[in-house]
Amino acid sequence: MTYGGTAAADAPGTRTGGVPLAAAGFVWPHCATCGGAMQFLAQIRLEDLAGAGRGLFAVFLCANDPGRCASWAPRSGGNRALVLPPRALTAAAPPASGRTGLGEVSAVTYVDVDAATYFDAATGWAKSEERSPREVLGKLGGEPEWLQGDETPRCTGCEGVMTLVAQLEEGHDHRTAADFGGGGSGYGFLCAPCGEAVFLWQA
Ligand SMILES: [Zn+2]
Ligand SMILES: [Zn+2]
Repeated sequence: MTYGGTAAADAPGTRTGGVPLAAAGFVWPHCATCGGAMQFLAQIRLEDLAGAGRGLFAVFLCANDPGRCASWAPRSGGNRALVLPPRALTAAAPPASGRTGLGEVSAVTYVDVDAATYFDAATGWAKSEERSPREVLGKLGGEPEWLQGDETPRCTGCEGVMTLVAQLEEGHDHRTAADFGGGGSGYGFLCAPCGEAVFLWQA
């Protein structure tokens, strides 16, 4: 997943920033610890990934009090991943207060890179394309490349091992990027049959 230039806040498909495309009645996620509205980070079109089903995988993080609210931890209430159904989607209205968005909307361009690991692919792509390594926004599907220990979650519904939808980087510009502890990676997981989604980050 590479930086594909600026996109509209309500652009369809996979992007970082902007507002999520949700069905009528969507309730914006709030942090379980501080109670503030969460920051919308990204939406990933599930049709882009074989076996992931349909709809948008949306990721939110509490950015109201950086370093607190356990925004890194799965199921902590300090972050949220949701599957937004692929029907009657409209741009969700962010709450008036709280840090609800990134400073920029970025389109995502998928690039196939032949490499042994994701990090090899990222550095190899940046070098061969003469682009900043920060323009690698993540990777779609496959195996997570952990910065710390393996935290692959299990679904609470079927107890199956959840599959990676995307590993996300903070963003191409530090001024508008997400905060995964300063140079960390985010990990979005899905159990497609159950529709359960989990997010966590490591640094
Ligand atoms: Zn919070
Ligand atoms: Zn399940």
